[in-house]
Amino acid sequence: MNCKIVTIPGDGIGPEIVREACKVLDRVGEVYGHTFEYQEILMGGCSIDAYGVPLTDEALETARQSDAVLLGAVGGNVGNSRWYDVAPNLRPEAGLLAIRKGLNLFANIRPAYLYSELAEACPLKKEIIGNGFDMVIMRELTGGLYFGERHTEEVDGVLQATDTLTYNENEIRRIAIKAFDIAMKRRKHVISVDKANVLDSSRLWRKVVEEVAKDYPEVKLEHMLVDNCAMPLVMNPGQFDVVLTENMFGDILSDEASMITGSIGMLSSASLNESKFGMYEPSHGSAPDIAGLGIANPIATILSAAMMLRYSFDLDREADAVEAAVQAVLTEGYRTVDIMAEGCRKVGTAQMGDLIVKHIQ
Ligand code: NAD
Repeated sequence: MNCKIVTIPGDGIGPEIVREACKVLDRVGEVYGHTFEYQEILMGGCSIDAYGVPLTDEALETARQSDAVLLGAVGGNVGNSRWYDVAPNLRPEAGLLAIRKGLNLFANIRPAYLYSELAEACPLKKEIIGNGFDMVIMRELTGGLYFGERHTEEVDGVLQATDTLTYNENEIRRIAIKAFDIAMKRRKHVISVDKANVLDSSRLWRKVVEEVAKDYPEVKLEHMLVDNCAMPLVMNPGQFDVVLTENMFGDILSDEASMITGSIGMLSSASLNESKFGMYEPSHGSAPDIAGLGIANPIATILSAAMMLRYSFDLDREADAVEAAVQAVLTEGYRTVDIMAEGCRKVGTAQMGDLIVKHIQ
């Protein structure tokens, strides 16, 4: 297979971690007979420095022409950088919003997986962790409350603010299809989260999800109210496989789920459009405090590249190999500084990448 990948190293630790992910992809190519062609574009602070805007139209078009995008991170020290003395739409993070919108990336997937080797970092008690957990939160990313009409007005001398939450059936159907497709590659269990006891948008959500479920008889579907879901996420996380939910609920639940893994440097993510196209990136930011030191953990980006193999290129065996290599390196006791524990061997960004590469054969 020949895949055209646009890379966006971005700012801070971005270039360091994207380099390692490309090393891993190249090794996958060698072992399994694929070629990955890379084209780099600028986004974020580095694009502001070069062109005065966080994302140029040309860069967006280049991304659109690719098979998938691999992103490091964008942004700098928010309180202490020339990039932030400008209007919000000219700041580095505006590039992220522009590329998500420009590429119509409506489906956000964030896995929360607990490596037994890192169980000490998990804030939950051992009896709750049990045999660990392995879930993905599937969040609708371009609709709902964050994109609805909003305004603030004075009514009878009192300030009043209004936000609106709108979903149409097409927006719900396309994300539900993605969630069921992904469930078919996993343990075939979807929990759809809503607030159908109160919200009309949630009642429509539930109806459409049930319609989509009819096309996936192998997948078990359950519904859960969002407040009910927040509790078992920390009391019995092992019960979740695919959690499907709308934008705001997903924003909150995906942060909750990622926090119980205990290690931000390990968390991958993907944002997909209606086809197989997606943008893959670590869940963390550009970590300006450690940029250039060669100590950043590249694993979240490497696991994001594994998601790219699985979801954009349907290379499940290759994705499994990358995930197994990460697992093997952790089992051998190698750790970057953010996940360092007693008795383990501390390694830097490039060395961690090399170790993972060595395990792919
Ligand atoms: P951050 O995730 O960059 O860093 C939080 C803490 O985690 C820091 O101490 C950092 O050193 C550490 N950390 C993060 N990733 C790590 C890794 N791979 N290895 C080791 N340690 C790691 O969050 P922040 O400090 O709030 O934000 C920094 C910048 O990143 C800001 O400009 C913010 O806007 C931007 N940001 C970008 C994205 C993105 O590009 N998708 C996401 C979040 C934040």
